Amino acid sequence: EPAKLDEKDPQAVGLGYVHDSSKADKAKYPNHTAAQQCKNCQLFQGKATDPMGGCPLFAGKLVAAGGWCSAYSKKA
Ligand code: SF4
Repeated sequence: EPAKLDEKDPQAVGLGYVHDSSKADKAKYPNHTAAQQCKNCQLFQGKATDPMGGCPLFAGKLVAAGGWCSAYSKKA
């Protein structure tokens, strides 16, 4: 069972990942909105109702459904 991604993981830090999208660094990422969340990102591999899911950017880890990183891309 994969472990939850650590926000302090160097790659997570590099991409500005946070478990709670509302906590994203607004100064660094001015285009971020709290509505942008892993669960509605194209790269999220979980189901919409899963609390956590995989993301190819963080292989072997789980990201939070309500999380966010700067590679966010809205699901079509
Ligand atoms: Fe979440 Fe998408 Fe970033 Fe992966 S790429 S951590 S699913 S916002």
